[in-house]
Amino acid sequence: MALIDLFTRRPAAPAAPAEDPAPRVWPEIGETWKPEGLPVAERYYNQAHAVVLVASTGRDPFGTTYYLVACLGCHFLSTRTKYHDSHIRYTLTAAAGAANEHAGTCRALPRELPARPDESTARHLLHSWVRTMPRRRDLQYTDFDLSDFDSGRLELQRTNQWIQTELEALAIEQSDLLSARTDEHTGTVRFRILPQSR
Ligand SMILES: [Zn+2]
Repeated sequence: MALIDLFTRRPAAPAAPAEDPAPRVWPEIGETWKPEGLPVAERYYNQAHAVVLVASTGRDPFGTTYYLVACLGCHFLSTRTKYHDSHIRYTLTAAAGAANEHAGTCRALPRELPARPDESTARHLLHSWVRTMPRRRDLQYTDFDLSDFDSGRLELQRTNQWIQTELEALAIEQSDLLSARTDEHTGTVRFRILPQSR
């Protein structure tokens, strides 16, 4: 995103769909890290100067970008906010509010960004999430999409494209566990965990 975009108010036209915008330097701390797959949109500082970051994790098929909030002091991590009776993904405004609120009360000392796992570790992590996904008892199968893994994104540090490619490979490798299909209305790939025979 160009700097000018930050200062230009426009109607809600679709923004540029870049998954990983250009790195931005944060001059106040001279810091340039940008976790892969997690473009940092905003950051706040807690009472002990640990970063509370707001990072985007993806976009839905209608062009709405969603975010997570993570504290690099304590282990506070949030990907959903309560809305009436359900939990919905954060908009930027809601995420910024949650980050700011957390930063105002947290006193944990700064810790490092988690190390980026190597390829095989990342793959094992993703596969373990698939296998341990909560399954609905009343259904024969469980559908999910990439955003169901948002709470692991800081640990995984991979792009949505990487996750999707890996899941599609897993669906071929273990076709009795997982299936992948393209939703004809939205063009997104939906994944389905199949019932396990006993
Ligand atoms: Zn914290």
